[in-house]
Amino acid sequence: ATPTAVMVATGVGANNGVLIKGGDALERAQKVQYVIFDKTGTLTQGKATVTTVKVFTEMDRGDFLRLLASAEASSEHPLAKAILEYARHFQFFEASKDSEQKNERSAMSAWLLDVFDFRVVPGRGVQCLIDGKLILVGNRSLLTENGIEIPNQVENFVVDLEENAKTGILVAYDSELIGVVGVADPLKREAAVVVEGLKKMGVRPIMVTGDNWRTARAVAKEVDIQDIRAEVMPAGKADVIRSFQKDGSIVAMVGDGINDSPALAAADVGIAIGAGTDIAIEAADYVLMKNNLEDVITAIDLSRKTFTRIR
Ligand code: ADP
Ligand code: MG
Repeated sequence: ATPTAVMVATGVGANNGVLIKGGDALERAQKVQYVIFDKTGTLTQGKATVTTVKVFTEMDRGDFLRLLASAEASSEHPLAKAILEYARHFQFFEASKDSEQKNERSAMSAWLLDVFDFRVVPGRGVQCLIDGKLILVGNRSLLTENGIEIPNQVENFVVDLEENAKTGILVAYDSELIGVVGVADPLKREAAVVVEGLKKMGVRPIMVTGDNWRTARAVAKEVDIQDIRAEVMPAGKADVIRSFQKDGSIVAMVGDGINDSPALAAADVGIAIGAGTDIAIEAADYVLMKNNLEDVITAIDLSRKTFTRIR
């Protein structure tokens, strides 16, 4: 392709909300054999919603939610935001039933408990002290690594959530498993169509996620992706990319989060979703400003049209 052709293609991309950072990136996209999608916020909308709250002890539902929301209040994770959102509605509803508290009904911060030693455990969850006792909120590994046993009844409940493509968040307080929250994050509307389109173009779609295998499988099934990598630690996504590159294959990575930037950088073609973080956008070769997965196909098409020689 001539420099003019590259300039034209870059302009066409920009007009369609596809920012291309240079001619090399534009050229590599035509050769892509694998497109590796992050799950949360890339294939899914990244807008998690609490669908289930289950308390496994005598504890009052309101007290459970208050503990849980207090523990998650300092977390930026989409799962934490979903929990806080749910707790806010719950608290508002409870307070408005009690006329004496009516004036205070929006006082969410007053409702939350004091938290000490808050820690984010990457790929696992959060932990802190409330009333001098340790609270753990996260996946199975977070609990088992802290010596908390997961009763069969709880395990079965979580498995059921996961088989329905939801994430089960476990809550332990003072060394006891007290409850589980189910969170759903729906697929983007175009996700399945894009996956099908890539297959028709001879490109293999893959899904990678920090979430558990069962949820990952359920989500992948909905979009018809056969090849998945789950329970990948935040630092492990770049290793997944490199494992696909080993035989010389050309790999694109599509992602949005902070966790994804090493993988975006490791990929031959890093594609950041526009609604993602600045650091992800920095690490990428392409930025999809419209936050629409169809533009993954636009990007590959544009490259193929620019660089395929007409003989
Ligand atoms: P993803 O690849 O989906 O972005 P993460 O690496 O952010 O996944 O998290 C992996 C898993 O760790 C989540 O699916 C969840 O089970 C757990 N987790 C992480 N952060 C939190 C949190 N703030 N609250 C509860 N669970 C969490
Ligand atoms: Mg993430």
